[in-house]
Amino acid sequence: MVLPFPYGLGAALALFIAFPLILRRRMMNRMRGGYGGSGSGSGSGGGFGGLFGQNSDNSSKIKYECLVCHKIYNARECPRCGSSMKRAMF
Ligand SMILES: [Zn+2]
Repeated sequence: MVLPFPYGLGAALALFIAFPLILRRRMMNRMRGGYGGSGSGSGSGGGFGGLFGQNSDNSSKIKYECLVCHKIYNARECPRCGSSMKRAMF
Protein backbone atom coordinates (compact mmCIF):
# COMPACT_ATOMS: atom_id res chain seq x y z
CA MET A 1 0.00 0.00 0.00
CA VAL A 2 2.11 2.88 -1.31
CA LEU A 3 0.32 6.17 -1.86
CA PRO A 4 1.58 9.75 -2.26
CA PHE A 5 1.81 11.63 1.03
CA PRO A 6 -1.52 13.46 1.35
CA TYR A 7 -3.59 10.53 0.12
CA GLY A 8 -1.73 8.04 2.28
CA LEU A 9 -2.26 10.21 5.32
CA GLY A 10 -5.95 10.59 4.51
CA ALA A 11 -6.34 6.84 4.05
CA ALA A 12 -4.57 6.15 7.33
CA LEU A 13 -6.79 8.67 9.13
CA ALA A 14 -9.90 7.17 7.58
CA LEU A 15 -8.80 3.72 8.72
CA PHE A 16 -8.06 5.01 12.23
CA ILE A 17 -11.51 6.59 12.44
CA ALA A 18 -13.54 3.94 10.66
CA PHE A 19 -11.96 0.81 12.11
CA PRO A 20 -12.99 1.32 15.77
CA LEU A 21 -16.47 2.36 14.63
CA ILE A 22 -16.86 -0.85 12.63
CA LEU A 23 -15.51 -2.94 15.50
CA ARG A 24 -17.83 -1.26 18.00
CA ARG A 25 -20.85 -1.71 15.77
CA ARG A 26 -19.99 -5.38 15.32
CA MET A 27 -19.60 -5.87 19.07
CA MET A 28 -22.87 -4.04 19.73
CA ASN A 29 -24.65 -6.35 17.33
CA ARG A 30 -23.15 -9.38 19.00
CA MET A 31 -24.10 -8.17 22.47
CA ARG A 32 -27.59 -7.24 21.35
CA GLY A 33 -27.98 -10.81 20.18
CA GLY A 34 -26.76 -12.18 23.51
CA TYR A 35 -28.27 -9.92 26.17
CA GLY A 36 -30.83 -7.13 26.06
CA GLY A 37 -28.37 -4.38 25.08
CA SER A 38 -28.55 -2.23 28.25
CA GLY A 39 -26.65 -4.75 30.38
CA SER A 40 -23.64 -4.94 28.06
CA GLY A 41 -21.61 -2.36 30.00
CA SER A 42 -21.99 -4.11 33.33
CA GLY A 43 -21.08 -7.39 31.65
CA SER A 44 -17.68 -6.14 30.48
CA GLY A 45 -17.07 -4.58 33.91
CA GLY A 46 -17.67 -7.94 35.54
CA GLY A 47 -15.09 -9.48 33.24
CA PHE A 48 -12.47 -6.96 34.32
CA GLY A 49 -13.40 -7.52 37.95
CA GLY A 50 -12.82 -11.24 37.50
CA LEU A 51 -9.37 -10.59 36.06
CA PHE A 52 -8.40 -8.39 38.99
CA GLY A 53 -9.80 -10.93 41.41
CA GLN A 54 -7.57 -13.61 39.94
CA ASN A 55 -4.54 -11.33 40.27
CA SER A 56 -5.20 -10.69 43.96
CA ASP A 57 -5.60 -14.43 44.49
CA ASN A 58 -2.19 -15.06 42.97
CA SER A 59 -0.49 -12.39 45.08
CA SER A 60 -1.95 -13.90 48.26
CA LYS A 61 -0.36 -17.25 47.37
CA ILE A 62 3.18 -15.85 47.57
CA LYS A 63 5.20 -17.57 50.26
CA TYR A 64 8.43 -16.47 51.85
CA GLU A 65 11.45 -18.41 52.96
CA CYS A 66 13.22 -17.11 56.00
CA LEU A 67 16.88 -16.37 55.25
CA VAL A 68 17.87 -17.03 58.87
CA CYS A 69 16.19 -20.34 59.74
CA HIS A 70 14.83 -21.30 56.28
CA LYS A 71 11.27 -21.72 57.51
CA ILE A 72 8.63 -21.20 54.79
CA TYR A 73 5.81 -18.96 55.90
CA ASN A 74 3.11 -16.64 54.60
CA ALA A 75 3.40 -13.55 56.77
CA ARG A 76 5.41 -10.36 57.03
CA GLU A 77 7.91 -11.78 59.51
CA CYS A 78 9.17 -15.22 60.27
CA PRO A 79 6.98 -16.84 62.94
CA ARG A 80 9.89 -18.92 64.24
CA CYS A 81 12.71 -16.39 64.68
CA GLY A 82 10.94 -13.09 64.01
CA SER A 83 13.35 -12.04 61.27
CA SER A 84 12.09 -10.00 58.34
CA MET A 85 14.94 -11.18 56.10
CA LYS A 86 13.08 -13.31 53.60
CA ARG A 87 13.01 -14.54 50.04
CA ALA A 88 9.82 -14.61 47.98
CA MET A 89 8.76 -17.98 46.56
CA PHE A 90 6.28 -18.22 43.69
ZN1 LIG B 1 13.19 -17.55 60.65
